Amino acid sequence: MKRCIVLLVAVSLCFSMTACAGEPYAKYTMSFFGTFDTFVTIIGFARSQETFDKVTAAAQTRFERLHQVYDGYTAYEGVANLYALNQEAAKGPVRVEPELMELLLYCREMQPKLAGAVNIALGAVLRVWHDFREDPVALPEMKKLQDAAKHINFDDVKLDEESGTVEFLDPALKLDLGAVAKGYATEVVAKEMLASEMPSFIIGAGGNVRAGNPPKDGRKRWTVQVEDPDGNVFATDGSDRLDLIYTANASVVTSGDYQRYVMFDEKRYHHIISPETLMPADALRAVTVVVEDSGLADLLSTALFILPYDTAMEVLQSFPGAEAMWVLPDRSVVMTDGMKKITSSHGATNK
Ligand code: AMP
Ligand code: MG
Repeated sequence: MKRCIVLLVAVSLCFSMTACAGEPYAKYTMSFFGTFDTFVTIIGFARSQETFDKVTAAAQTRFERLHQVYDGYTAYEGVANLYALNQEAAKGPVRVEPELMELLLYCREMQPKLAGAVNIALGAVLRVWHDFREDPVALPEMKKLQDAAKHINFDDVKLDEESGTVEFLDPALKLDLGAVAKGYATEVVAKEMLASEMPSFIIGAGGNVRAGNPPKDGRKRWTVQVEDPDGNVFATDGSDRLDLIYTANASVVTSGDYQRYVMFDEKRYHHIISPETLMPADALRAVTVVVEDSGLADLLSTALFILPYDTAMEVLQSFPGAEAMWVLPDRSVVMTDGMKKITSSHGATNK
């Protein structure tokens, strides 16, 4: 009798699974622009266009909200964002949006693990470089950079979780979330999509890619292109490709000297600044990091771009599952053994 019931349950479960299965999976794509200065493209496998549209509309809304909260250059009506914080926090405690407090707490936890390479309180120095890139008439004077560097101590940022307020104890301090915000936001969106009706997806947001569950077309992994630092981004023949990475449930994030820069006196001045020299880090062309969490991948790629190789390896190895690929100034490529296992240049496939 007992066996009979078990069998019956199994049969009815099976039946309901077949009934639920409904339409087969199909691949859908959408893109939008306007968040984090980049095109965001989402590819997903869903049983209907309707499901895809619903899940990606929620993803876009979340990206838009987080873009506003982490924006350091623009005020938005009713949003206690990074811009407002930088304007007001030297005068006393400022209430911030909960998503901003979360990211600041995350950075407080993570920064000590990155060998001093990434400091979100480096804003005063980064502004000098930002202004130069906007209007490159004369190189920033070292004295100006050194003066700015007197105001970059993250300990001078008082985070009060209870009251949801932030205060700068140094009135000249500024926060800059450029090294982490896009990846952190992408991870928030990815977590929501993994819990949605469409957990098989990939999000591309500029140099930040986050793959969800594997594709539903027989492939085991998604294919992510690593750009050639000297490639033409408009190329459609693959000539802008340095390598391919095959992965699922992971992020692939690149920091590179070709992503944001100006040429001045025939030299490239890009956006990743060494806290030690106060100059654009110049030992590498690009670094790509693979690790599950996109916020961590974003922090790590910026850190590894700045750090000397030995320190970079120590930092990387302190994060289980993290892999990296370095592109050197002579265009040669160095990668960890784990990275070799997932790159097409070393024979990997997405099967
Ligand atoms: P990413 O493209 O993720 O490597 O981040 C680069 C961005 O991070 C820059 O545009 C700056 O806004 C910011 N940034 C640059 N250098 C640093 C640094 N050493 N620490 C923290 N943020 C930085
Ligand atoms: Mg980064």
